[in-house]
Amino acid sequence: MDLSEIKEVLAKLSGCKVISDAPLKEYTSFKIGGPADLLVEPENSNALQQVMRILAEHNQSYFVLGKGSNILIGDKGFRGVVLRLTGLNNVRSEGTKIIAESGVTLAKLAGFAVNAELTGLEFASGIPGTLGGAVVMNAGAYGGEMRDVVTRVTALTPHGEMRALNAREMEFGYRQSIFQKNGWIVVEVEMELQPGDSVEIRDKMNELNSRRKNKQPLEYPSAGSTFKRPPGYFAGTLIDQMGLKGYTIGGAQVSEKHAGFIINVGGARASDVLKLIQHVQKQVKAKAGVDLEPEVHLVGEFDKQDE
Ligand SMILES: Cc1cc2nc3c(=O)[nH]c(=O)nc-3n(C[C@H](O)[C@H](O)[C@H](O)COP(=O)(O)OP(=O)(O)OC[C@H]3O[C@@H](n4cnc5c(N)ncnc54)[C@H](O)[C@@H]3O)c2cc1C
Repeated sequence: MDLSEIKEVLAKLSGCKVISDAPLKEYTSFKIGGPADLLVEPENSNALQQVMRILAEHNQSYFVLGKGSNILIGDKGFRGVVLRLTGLNNVRSEGTKIIAESGVTLAKLAGFAVNAELTGLEFASGIPGTLGGAVVMNAGAYGGEMRDVVTRVTALTPHGEMRALNAREMEFGYRQSIFQKNGWIVVEVEMELQPGDSVEIRDKMNELNSRRKNKQPLEYPSAGSTFKRPPGYFAGTLIDQMGLKGYTIGGAQVSEKHAGFIINVGGARASDVLKLIQHVQKQVKAKAGVDLEPEVHLVGEFDKQDE
């Protein structure tokens, strides 16, 4: 079955939106990326499971997208199906637990925690991704990370089977989890929090978010920290010491405000960002002897000369 036939089958599913040639730059925080052959947006976990079964049956390649805040999509886009999960956004609490679907944004989740008077998610309130993306990345900030709160995940295997994983099985590490290795889709997440005072929780979130605003170039599109923290160093400090602040290729620039961020100063192509990443890596390796590994995930097709 070819992709247009798969599109027809998916379009007949209830609770599922299907778009052809979707411009992925509209779905990423970098505002970069070519088209996806098909963008599929399930509205609930049943629809997602049915989609996965159809894709598995036809051996169709796919990529899972949350808020697109940690990815660089190639200028030629993605051949196959992009599954966008922001429609899965139910949240509920049970005592001190919050149970939420993976497409909910961390901002909405943080607001829910305030209202439920539960503390423990303050660190995540300003991270501009979905809960699913945050679990996959073991996202963290200001001394907290997802592994501190996540106790259970329901995930879909590439064959469309639901599985439950406990915290140990998720193999959390620095910006790492089992889901980056097994390709399972995070569907629902259980988090254990502590009772707190809603005013104090809200104040803490506001304080962390204003620290973020002061330090980070939030006025430009980016994918956050471009590189992982190399052991014993801070990527931003190293890049600054190389004199690379403001270094620009095409529309991509090492931020003047925070050298750990590559920003899109206008019309950047994925190829500009990739060349800039490679330039920074070479300089830091040559002058400081440190290997910088991208934190940002590269997805889809890049121009041949960039590979
Ligand atoms: C301004 C800015 C500030 C940031 N600050 C921080 C920070 O302080 N700390 C931090 O850790 N990160 C930070 N980030 C990076 C990013 O927001 C996080 O990594 C976030 O958790 C990514 O979530 P997402 O939904 O956008 O994932 P995406 O970028 O859409 O996807 C990231 C990866 O996860 C996979 N994925 C997404 N959802 C699922 C799912 N449900 N199941 C399986 N796989 C999935 C994707 O396939 C991809 O490989 C920042 C980014 C920006 C732009």
